[in-house]
Amino acid sequence: MNVRPLGGRGLLVALSVVGLILYFALDGLAADMFWNVYVLAVLGVAAAATRRLGRHRRAWQWIIAGNLCFLIGDATYSLLDFALGDDPYPSIADVFYLSGYPLLGVGLARLSRTGAAHRDRGAWVDAAIITLGGTALLWVLVMAPTAGDNAVPILDRVVALSYTGGDMILIAGLAVLSGRHLLRGRAFALLMASLVTMLVADVVYAVMSLGEDYTLGNPVDALWWTSYTLLALAVLDPQHADSPKPTATRPPGLTTARSMSLVAAAIVAPVALLVGVIDGETEHAAVLLIATIAIFVLVVGRLQLVAGELDASRRALEHEANHDALTGLANRTRFAHEIEGAAASPIHDVVVLYLDLDDFKTVNDLHGHPVGDAMLVEIADRLRTITPWPDHVARLGGDEFAVLLTGALARSAPSVADELLRIVREPVELPQTVVHPAASVGTASISGAGDVAELMRRADVAMYSAKRAGKDRWKSFEADVGDGAMTWLELRSDLPLAHERDQLTLEFQPVVSVEDGRTVSLEALVRWDHPVHGRIGPDRFIPIAEESRLIDDIGRWVVRAALRAAASAPATDVDISVNVSPRQLEHGGFVDDLRNELTESGFDPGRFIIEVTESSTIDDVDHVAKVLGDIRRLGVRVALDDLGAGFASLRHLGSLPIDIVKLDRSFMRRPMRERDLLPGLVELIRALKLVPVIEGVETPAHHALVRELGVPLAQGYHYGRPVPFDLAWRSLAHQRLVPAGPDRLPIG
Ligand code: C2E
Ligand code: CA
Ligand code: CA
Repeated sequence: MNVRPLGGRGLLVALSVVGLILYFALDGLAADMFWNVYVLAVLGVAAAATRRLGRHRRAWQWIIAGNLCFLIGDATYSLLDFALGDDPYPSIADVFYLSGYPLLGVGLARLSRTGAAHRDRGAWVDAAIITLGGTALLWVLVMAPTAGDNAVPILDRVVALSYTGGDMILIAGLAVLSGRHLLRGRAFALLMASLVTMLVADVVYAVMSLGEDYTLGNPVDALWWTSYTLLALAVLDPQHADSPKPTATRPPGLTTARSMSLVAAAIVAPVALLVGVIDGETEHAAVLLIATIAIFVLVVGRLQLVAGELDASRRALEHEANHDALTGLANRTRFAHEIEGAAASPIHDVVVLYLDLDDFKTVNDLHGHPVGDAMLVEIADRLRTITPWPDHVARLGGDEFAVLLTGALARSAPSVADELLRIVREPVELPQTVVHPAASVGTASISGAGDVAELMRRADVAMYSAKRAGKDRWKSFEADVGDGAMTWLELRSDLPLAHERDQLTLEFQPVVSVEDGRTVSLEALVRWDHPVHGRIGPDRFIPIAEESRLIDDIGRWVVRAALRAAASAPATDVDISVNVSPRQLEHGGFVDDLRNELTESGFDPGRFIIEVTESSTIDDVDHVAKVLGDIRRLGVRVALDDLGAGFASLRHLGSLPIDIVKLDRSFMRRPMRERDLLPGLVELIRALKLVPVIEGVETPAHHALVRELGVPLAQGYHYGRPVPFDLAWRSLAHQRLVPAGPDRLPIG
């Protein structure tokens, strides 16, 4: 037979019901014996079951020990009853009974103490209210009549009152337990049921005893019987008896059930008082009045706690709405608020630092998102040390952060920005790996920016400029990006016209063979001839173009203009290169446009080179690699530009489909010590079968260094500045008179 669905607990319930019927069928000593054996068996089972428990084992053992005292009391009572043939009250049995309550109390206290996830003071106040209300009820029903009954011997009265004391322990335990939300599910319900049953039995018994109505075998015995059984059932539910890991992280607050029991408990004393007054009975008035006042005070305290809880949760909600979940920093909305507040105060200088981590995507790709998240949290913690105002540091999303500087901090923004870069650069040690972060930072000041949005945009643009300049550095919008002669806003609003009204021109700068100085290629560099402000360099307007999608239009124009110019020139074998922003590659269509332009111009793709800046924000390396591959399939070569400006994507060297590597011009200007890197780098490039080109050769000393390194190709003011096409071509014509050297840029 399959007994699984019934299980041990089902069996116990069945035994309990059958046993109870049997108990009432039996008589005298037999009934007593049967009672004691049953209770002993039930408690034995419960005690054995506690061995399967973990965190709450001791608590349950105390509770069972308390019940065991009741059993010993029962047995002693039976024994005395049998031996004396009379109701043995009070007797030694009562000592056992009474000692059970404190043990029970200890168990309940332990059960409610362990595993509390939070300090829920409200629950304690609730428990106090319920205990007080219950005590008032006990007082009216049992205690006062007992205490005042002069016919009963004094010892009897003391013992009877002690029982009500025990019941107060029960009520308090129940109240605390129910408030703490500790044991959820069945075990909780069963334990509560066991305690309530016992309490009801106690009170009924006490009331009956007053009238000497109780004898053994009274129906009230069924309540105690059931109480024992319920306790065993509770312990036999190990999963629930033990598991109550507090699920709520916040106090549960005033639930309906809680409020109802509080109302009930709170009205007991005043109602009893009222009833007494109506009946003209005023003997309890003083006690009930005190209880009423005490409960009243507690209720007021409880209301205050509720108000406090509401306030706390309102503040928690507000914090959630205004802060980033991962780092706890202010979010964009909150940050904008802070800026507005700072800007409104007349004495405040306001500077925003806009920070974007360099190559964060690589960290995510390489180590996974948990590591990326851990790194963001660490960076956030470091940024917090910059300013004493918590909400002056924000996470704007992804790997972008911002810091608001006011007052003295704002006035020393440059050193703060230096410091910020320094602390970001500290290695992040994570359980699995060490990450070396770096960031590009843009700063902008509120003066002249007008509103918050413009201020943020300026800081963003300055940050972008820092990226372009080689990452791991900061740029000031005011000092490096915008400038006095022409405001940023003017520049940005005029730029679309630059393209439409033919204000863009190209200059060409030679790349030469180091060996014999012959020009092997010309790099096209764009300029903007502004009708009012004169010539503007690409470093100033390309970032604006990149920020809007204007870069696509300008980029297309550059390719077309360079190809047309080169194709119209008299036959020569020099190559032509143009710069392409990685952002142009992000969107489809670049390769198609390039193919069309090559066809239309008739220029040999084998003599065309696309330069992609290494130091720009390449967000999606895989995608860029794919587009570069497509470009090379057209027969066009690809140069990785400005290598070494940030050293960030040295890693890309081996993986990107490229032909040429241009070493950043900053190498030439670096102190000797840092140039030590150059030979190794050149070797690496050669080992990868790529052609190295060195930039920024300004002096004969530079030239000598390049020779020493054995780099075949170089570019710089030492060989020639960027000049208009005609001029560049004239010097080429001059060069044609000299026989060609071996070092032209290899094709393919
Ligand atoms: P780049 O690609 O590294 O271009 C070389 C830059 O270095 C040019 O500045 C050039 O004038 C400068 N230069 C050449 N030789 C020397 C030297 O010996 N010493 C020093 N200090 N500088 C030298 P330019 O023309 O201002 O261009 C700046 C940057 O703007 C370029 O850097 C390139 O990244 C970008 N750029 C230029 N034209 C375009 C374009 O048509 N499209 C895109 N997307 N970017 C462009
Ligand atoms: Ca270039
Ligand atoms: Ca370059």
